[in-house]
Amino acid sequence: MNISPEFQFRAKDTLEAEVRSNFEHTLQRLTELVAIPSVAWEAYDLSQVERSAEKVKELAFAVGFEQVEILTATYGPENTAGMPAVVARKEAAPGHPTILLYAHHDVQPVGNLKEWQTAPFVATRKGDRLFGRGAADDKAGVLAHLAAFEATRTVLGDDFKAGVTLFIEGEEEAGSPSFTNFLNTYRDKLAADVIIVADSSNWQVGVPALTTSLRGVASGTISVRVADHNVHSGVFGGPLLDAHTVMVRTLASLHNSQGSVAVEGLIHAPEPEVEYLEANFRADSGILDSVELAGTDSIASRLWAQPAISIIGMDVPSVETASNTIAATSRAKISVRLAPGSDPAQAHAALENHLKNLDVMGAKVTYTADDSGQPFSTDTSSAGAQLALAAFKESWQVDPVTTGLGGSIPFIADLTEVFPGADILITGIEDPDTRAHSANESLYLPDFEKAILAEALMLAELSASAQ
Ligand SMILES: [Zn+2]
Repeated sequence: MNISPEFQFRAKDTLEAEVRSNFEHTLQRLTELVAIPSVAWEAYDLSQVERSAEKVKELAFAVGFEQVEILTATYGPENTAGMPAVVARKEAAPGHPTILLYAHHDVQPVGNLKEWQTAPFVATRKGDRLFGRGAADDKAGVLAHLAAFEATRTVLGDDFKAGVTLFIEGEEEAGSPSFTNFLNTYRDKLAADVIIVADSSNWQVGVPALTTSLRGVASGTISVRVADHNVHSGVFGGPLLDAHTVMVRTLASLHNSQGSVAVEGLIHAPEPEVEYLEANFRADSGILDSVELAGTDSIASRLWAQPAISIIGMDVPSVETASNTIAATSRAKISVRLAPGSDPAQAHAALENHLKNLDVMGAKVTYTADDSGQPFSTDTSSAGAQLALAAFKESWQVDPVTTGLGGSIPFIADLTEVFPGADILITGIEDPDTRAHSANESLYLPDFEKAILAEALMLAELSASAQ
């Protein structure tokens, strides 16, 4: 694809006026979408995910897409049906590129309701922020695409030459189980030159970011066995260490005394370009003032370019029901974040090897690999990345930054695999205080408006460029 290196953004003033005059309407539509509790986890009412797909379909027609479908794919050995995705298309004029706009309409569960200061499924405006589950992640992504498309269509009319495919997934927070099959089944409908994934974070309030690297993930379960059954801690305690104590010693071996990962064979990527200030990290993470940061090198490196290991679950008796018993077995689930350039299979092998070589007084320690997600990194000199950075600058009037993301978006690896020729641009609608996945999730509205304009600028620019 050939994009002129000199971006003109000729339609900027009219697009900006259009996005602005429509902004309250956009927020109204976002509010309607937030009202649907579309949690795609099996324990929840999945008919709500169908409802939110229907709502997205209705909105896609409303902003001017002519072809809109709700599609599903299956997954797994029993061909389980995946959650409904919405795909809407506007064909490219001959010689013009096609842009795929991705977001997801499913949301995380609300967690502890008591921690919410507003009703999670009632979008509530306080000052410059809109609170609600999915108000940012990722229903704001859905609305950013819809509003950008609508503004571009209104302003450019017949000069809207770029092709646009809207792809709104319905199971991202549930791990996208049918995603690979979905891409393969609908490959022809989804093929694009540029893919915009509006599901990440900006750098700070007022500073846009293009996410150019993502860590991968490898999670697994560690099991410890010390005896064939549980026994009385008074009768046998002393010579027999309980399985939880052995587990704690095992888990402690995963980090060194500085808190850096101590498992050999996990890759470190080059140092990132931006500086993440310790003060910002402390404020964003809520870490106690007295707690030292773990690891070495810059904070950005520790977050995006180095591996990290967290213990995310343990099977131990609860404190309330504890009895004087020596446990024969213990289980823990660990999650390993992997630097760009890593391979999850290699990481699982490194963990297995680490545990095999551990001195745990002969206790049986086993490791089972659970999930894997590939890391991602993009070339910022690509035409698409250059266009995105220029559009951010034009919209915010501030220099954008390229950042990594400590989290993983496993489906990005699938997109890379199925569409190797496409530029994948991960853009932000969140900011560090959005609290996606937590109580009191919120969207910062001034940046949301700028994100819509930036995307409209990109669509307009791609309409001026030939393929
Ligand atoms: Zn998301």
